[in-house]
Amino acid sequence: MFEKIVIANRGEIALRILRACRQIGIQSVAVHSVCDRNLKHVKLADQTVCIGPNPSSQSYLNVPAIIAAAEVTDAQAIHPGYGFLAENADFAERVEQSGFTFIGPSAATIRLMGNKVAAIEAMQAANVPTVPGSNGPLGDDDEKNQKIAKDLGFPVIVKAAAGGGGRGMRVVHSESELLSSIQITKAEAKAAFGDATVYLEKFLEKPRHVEVQVLADKYGNAIHLYDRDCSLQRRHQKVLEEAPAPSVDPKARTQVLEACVKACRNMGYVGAGTFEFLYEDDRFYFIEMNTRVQVEHPVSEMVTGIDIIHEQISVAAGNPLSVTQDEIELNGNAIECRINAENPNTFLPSPGLISRYHPPGGPGVRVDSHIYSGYPVPPHYDSMIAKIITHGATREEALRRMEVALSETLIDGIQTNIPMQQDIVTDEKFLSGPVSIHYLEKKLGLS
Ligand code: ADP
Repeated sequence: MFEKIVIANRGEIALRILRACRQIGIQSVAVHSVCDRNLKHVKLADQTVCIGPNPSSQSYLNVPAIIAAAEVTDAQAIHPGYGFLAENADFAERVEQSGFTFIGPSAATIRLMGNKVAAIEAMQAANVPTVPGSNGPLGDDDEKNQKIAKDLGFPVIVKAAAGGGGRGMRVVHSESELLSSIQITKAEAKAAFGDATVYLEKFLEKPRHVEVQVLADKYGNAIHLYDRDCSLQRRHQKVLEEAPAPSVDPKARTQVLEACVKACRNMGYVGAGTFEFLYEDDRFYFIEMNTRVQVEHPVSEMVTGIDIIHEQISVAAGNPLSVTQDEIELNGNAIECRINAENPNTFLPSPGLISRYHPPGGPGVRVDSHIYSGYPVPPHYDSMIAKIITHGATREEALRRMEVALSETLIDGIQTNIPMQQDIVTDEKFLSGPVSIHYLEKKLGLS
């Protein structure tokens, strides 16, 4: 096992990684920007290194500073968390070339999954179901492209191979818009990602977002930790997640879980990862793979009892997975609400001093958060300040526990989206069953 690792992130995930390190007995190095010296994990870390000014471009994205921090502290590995450099293949490569272990899959795997056309091909090779589409990049032959779209049937979606973060996509409703949409998406993709490659997919109208959590080691062992439903989204940002995904066709689920595990083995995947799918009419359609730990990993931890971060660090150090698929049992249901420092009506960020904080508690309640009374939420980073996770024997129990947990959470001094989360967890339609990825925006009157 490693003796010391650098945590190249901030906020709740940095604290989550620090907790895993302490649990295992690994020393931790917190790297931080100037304003983040008061973060909880920075205070708890064995060593700290300030890596630059507040803007993330000069600190959490500052590759030489992060690698220098690993060097001066004699650390052996770097955990990237999520966001920032977590899916940056060049960073993973630089870390390894500098003699440290990158806690995640290889740079080649990150690069492969960063190209959506290549990722889809890799999935098809493992029988992972994909969205009907052009099966490869679109060429310059207009007639051919028109035929592909017509055969798929409108609406279709033009997507950039190098796209990400909900950018580089355009829905096309009729044949007359097709060619111009392809041209515009190509130009935008070239400008935004330096790669004009685009492809075509059937546009699914009312899908859910269902994803599969996997873990794999260096010895060809791969397992899944079942699925999560993350359909409640605003502007492609997940707001509430749950595990397992409710009301999924049992046969389709078994097939997709097995296919994801097979895909991991085929790719020589190492670490924690997530296969993201759209799910409609009892069928799964792969859209992308995330090669890192995700914000919503706790719901899978709650229903399987597996510490995902612990496994992630352990397999990076060259250990085999500590569990086999047979040993993993699904236990109850879990819900996660993301708590953001934002105006509940306008969604504008609401940074500032948290004057008073009382987290919720009680049976089946977990809070992953770095905030405390007197903590100033800086304006420079993502507005998520806490994740409240509840677990119950049934979905109803987990939801009821969430309702109670939200009602007792006190965060004074700034505004939060707690009122919106309270609205969601008491929403009749959401309570009675799964909803599509458009449900929340419609409910909020945004679409
Ligand atoms: P990104 O990498 O930018 O997040 P994704 O491929 O994951 O892009 O797609 C982001 C979102 O766009 C999905 O969660 C879904 O809401 C929508 N989307 C993407 N592809 C399709 C599709 N074929 N049909 C319907 N919606 C889609």
